[in-house]
Amino acid sequence: MKRSRKVHVKSFGCQMNVYDSHRMADTLVPAGFSETANAEDADLVILNTCHIREKSVEKIYSEIGRVREMKEAAARDGRYMLIAVAGCVAQAEGKEIVRRAGAVDLVVGSQNYHRLPEMIARAQNGEKVIDTEFPVEDKFDVLAAPARETIAKRGISAFVTVQEGCDKFCTFCVVPYTRGSEVSRPVEKIVSEVERLVEAGVREVTLIGQNVNAYHGLDRDGTPSSLGRLLRRLNTVQGLYRLRYTTSHPRDMNDDLIAAHAELPALMPFVHLPVQSGSDRILAAMNRKHTREDYLRVIARLRARRTDLAFSSDFIVGFPGEAENDFRETLALVDDVGFASAFSFMYSPRPGTPAAEMADQVPQDEKSERLQRLQAAITRHQRSFNAGFAGKTLDVLLEKPGRLPGQLVGRSPYLQAVQIMAPAHLIGSVQRVTITEIGSNSLFGMLADATRTPVLNMAGA
Ligand code: SAM
Ligand code: SF4
Repeated sequence: MKRSRKVHVKSFGCQMNVYDSHRMADTLVPAGFSETANAEDADLVILNTCHIREKSVEKIYSEIGRVREMKEAAARDGRYMLIAVAGCVAQAEGKEIVRRAGAVDLVVGSQNYHRLPEMIARAQNGEKVIDTEFPVEDKFDVLAAPARETIAKRGISAFVTVQEGCDKFCTFCVVPYTRGSEVSRPVEKIVSEVERLVEAGVREVTLIGQNVNAYHGLDRDGTPSSLGRLLRRLNTVQGLYRLRYTTSHPRDMNDDLIAAHAELPALMPFVHLPVQSGSDRILAAMNRKHTREDYLRVIARLRARRTDLAFSSDFIVGFPGEAENDFRETLALVDDVGFASAFSFMYSPRPGTPAAEMADQVPQDEKSERLQRLQAAITRHQRSFNAGFAGKTLDVLLEKPGRLPGQLVGRSPYLQAVQIMAPAHLIGSVQRVTITEIGSNSLFGMLADATRTPVLNMAGA
């Protein structure tokens, strides 16, 4: 009988990497691997990496150093631990990883995870295996689906990749190089994956893609489906309470998707819509192909169809050539929209991208000073958005136990974390919760009617 081996997968970066990490672990089950949360115990450690900023790359190399020490400790115990580097750093750096970090046994690019079992067998024979080709076959067709118990262990909220890659080529971004050109999965494959998740207890699905609203996967009738049409189809899946999608591009926010926000009860009123900058001059240099006005118009069209929509965004400060005036336009845009939350980053030159070669790079201290000002503005809006819910009652999907005994954590429709005292059997149900206190990172509340039997409780369904 084959000895059971253990795999530990550590994810860095975006939700697409979290999804890929799960699929890698699932694909290794037939090869005799089971997942472990403890890297020291593992026979195979996979670092699923992110290349989006320089800091993320340096983090990977220091993580490889830590795993190398575990590998040496395992060798002293007579155990051989394999180290694999996957994801966008693997895709971008390839052989360089093995040159810089000799302890790494295999390097697998973001489109080749289905080949892992064969690559591992080769690495066990002492070969350094590097596979970063963009293959002709679709990895989604070959990657294994998770077992029912595995889905249940991962919780009631799941990600499903519907689209990968990008053809937009923003001048700062590595994604088109590391993930390749845009590919959408067929509708039926997504629907059956979602049905399988729901059947195992999942209640919320977030559709993910680098450019999720550019989705154009083929439907049963052979015609391309828009994201709006896909969401309409998923809205009919029994037992699925909530649908979300991320990350969208302002240019691909079409009427069909906007209308879906008004029509679909399962589609949550929260849209992550990165703008990057509030200055038209900088947006043009970024090759974003939209202006500040275009962006504000998209927000207005969405709000016209659903008045309570909340927005989040991504911002880059210190893009080459960004002057104080450009930055002030970004601050003004934050005030114009009033984001519920947002991510903000200092521009990080990525090798091989056009912006990395641009003159007038902004000095580090200026980037850092602008980032602080931007984050202060975002935090101010986030606090005021959250403060508006004091004393109000919200539908909360309860996800998991909180840190305190008897506490559960869930999410509001607007993606706010909400903590309440409630019995564990309510995990997986949507409850009416009255907000009693506003914290800095989450809201606190109580069941709106603790004496009534919860009508929406489907836990264990
Ligand atoms: N497709 C999305 C869009 O169009 O906005 C973004 C996907 S990207 C993986 C996530 C975020 O990382 C971007 O929105 C951007 O704010 C940030 N980012 C990407 N490249 C960056 C760079 N070179 N420096 C700093 N931040 C960067
Ligand atoms: Fe990167 Fe998004 Fe621009 Fe594509 S659209 S290049 S993923 S920032």
